[in-house]
Amino acid sequence: MLDAVLPRRCAACDALSERAVFCPACADSILVDETGAAGYLFGGALQTAIRRAKFDPDETRGRALCRLVDDLGPEAWPAGEAVAYVPIHPRRFAGRGFDLSGLLAGRVGGRLGRPVVHALDCVRFEAPLSMGGRARREDVAGKFAVRAPVHGRGLLLVDDVKTTGATLAEAARVLAEAGAVVTTWALSRAPGADEA
Ligand SMILES: [Zn+2]
Repeated sequence: MLDAVLPRRCAACDALSERAVFCPACADSILVDETGAAGYLFGGALQTAIRRAKFDPDETRGRALCRLVDDLGPEAWPAGEAVAYVPIHPRRFAGRGFDLSGLLAGRVGGRLGRPVVHALDCVRFEAPLSMGGRARREDVAGKFAVRAPVHGRGLLLVDDVKTTGATLAEAARVLAEAGAVVTTWALSRAPGADEA
């Protein structure tokens, strides 16, 4: 509702931007991931907007970013009867007030007409990491636990940023171990992250 009446601003630089997620100057830096491994490449205004959404934190900005889902063509979407997401830890959720990958999953589910399942819990809290840094910790073991019956379900597992791919891979592994058939998708992929 509010979405329709508030003046819209560029998700990265806050310039007035009536319809688009980004102003024209910022939009120039937005690159679709042509490999199909993610929606977009992580960098430029998209990196700025994701960082500001998560670390400011700013749910309105996060919801604006979710509209990028609508701009992707039908070929961008892997299979899966339901949409799951890589959650943040409850302690981080309490501080931030929203889960960007959860918001994205809602948008993806709406776009594809698939239900969203809260299939995973993040059960290990870690100190905040700077995004786009070189030395992101790869220690992801034991970070996620399955919290919903997923055996035999086809899940499209959604995350906001695929940095090294380790976190998304671990979340997918835990779900697969519980019997789900998992495909993964991220809104953005850092250069150098796995293409598959
Ligand atoms: Zn801008």
